[in-house]
Amino acid sequence: MRPAVMVLDEPTSQLDAVATGVVFEALETLRAQGVTVILFEHRLERPARCADRVLILNEGRIAADGPPADVLTDPRLAEWGVGSGPAALHHGRTPRRRAWPVGVGPSAAGDPGGGRGRIHRLAQEHENRRRHVMVLRVDSLSHRYPNGTTALADVSLTVRAGERVAVVGPNGAGKSTLARHLIGIARPTSGTVTVDGRDAAGLEIAELARSVGFVFQNPDDQLHAATVAKEVGFGPRNLGFPADRRTALTQWALRVTGLTGEANSHPRHLSFGERKRVAFASVLAMDTPIIVLDEPTTGQDHRSVVLLEELIADRHERGRTILAITHDTDFCAENFDRVVVLSEGRVRWDGPVERWLEGDRNESTSAFEQPQMARLGRRLGWPTPVATVDSFLDQLTAHTAAR
Ligand code: ADP
Repeated sequence: MRPAVMVLDEPTSQLDAVATGVVFEALETLRAQGVTVILFEHRLERPARCADRVLILNEGRIAADGPPADVLTDPRLAEWGVGSGPAALHHGRTPRRRAWPVGVGPSAAGDPGGGRGRIHRLAQEHENRRRHVMVLRVDSLSHRYPNGTTALADVSLTVRAGERVAVVGPNGAGKSTLARHLIGIARPTSGTVTVDGRDAAGLEIAELARSVGFVFQNPDDQLHAATVAKEVGFGPRNLGFPADRRTALTQWALRVTGLTGEANSHPRHLSFGERKRVAFASVLAMDTPIIVLDEPTTGQDHRSVVLLEELIADRHERGRTILAITHDTDFCAENFDRVVVLSEGRVRWDGPVERWLEGDRNESTSAFEQPQMARLGRRLGWPTPVATVDSFLDQLTAHTAAR
């Protein structure tokens, strides 16, 4: 259509690194041809490199307007809820502390897992982890869609209790199809899926939902109730929890996701990022031992990513197993222990996150942008690879001491 002005609303939020690069190259070309490009973004690193001008919108007002070098170094950024990448997320946050809203951590008043039951469960979970109980097992799983597309080919994978696993891979790799098998909305063409020691083939979706909570990539595929509170309360009711537990879980999930104030809102009246938080809250309220998140950082602003990281850390501390599909290598580096790389329906790599991030000559990492901290460490010429803010700070301390 060759417009004079192009307006883009988070155009790359669900794209892999290669596709993101293609989009930004195209935008550069358009700009060179005199097209005005207006980009709405949460992630600031690329815009910081290529934009002429950055505007910050906060609470319906323009809070700042100027060249990236001025606006993105403004000390009020955090106040505006804006940040870019792990360094900003971890700003003033060592060790990990509760950010926003309060009450996620173990002492959170009203946590439905509190009290004697909680102590018992923590002990049990510790024991599970010690024994390395297998909670998910995928054996030679293949899936062919009715149109003939083979989305998964001979995938095998085991996940133990308490693990935090990131599933990464280019668009179309089969990640979502794999996740859908874990909750029974896709069924194997061949192979088996075992959840909590039971063959998923013999279990109804409703039964699998006791073990696996799934946060969809698109919240609109998940949300159906007329209010946020009803939406979040649906899972615990459906699972047949007693009324007091149901209420406690619902209120807790609303509170820790910062949604208490929206309890009576219609989910449709919320932003995409907020609807995604409602979807996460409704899964938290089911208190499942396994949580699967499909692209959880998509459309989330700085504050919401901080919140998500806190919640993942909290659930991990309580022995839950977390599996996330993500394109975000910074998010992987900071929050996960293990990475599984899928491409063209096959597992290409499976191992500790540090090894995946360090192996920049490894074929499995070539399609991914290295985390910010890794790129910074390399630019500084450090011989030991770093991937997280913490490992970066450790190296920096070592280098300073050596001088
Ligand atoms: P990813 O989550 O890694 O982007 P998906 O699991 O969504 O990958 O898709 C894997 C492959 O299966 C892709 O080639 C995609 O086009 C195809 N696919 C996904 N859903 C369907 C469907 N409902 N019908 C046919 N093909 C599908």
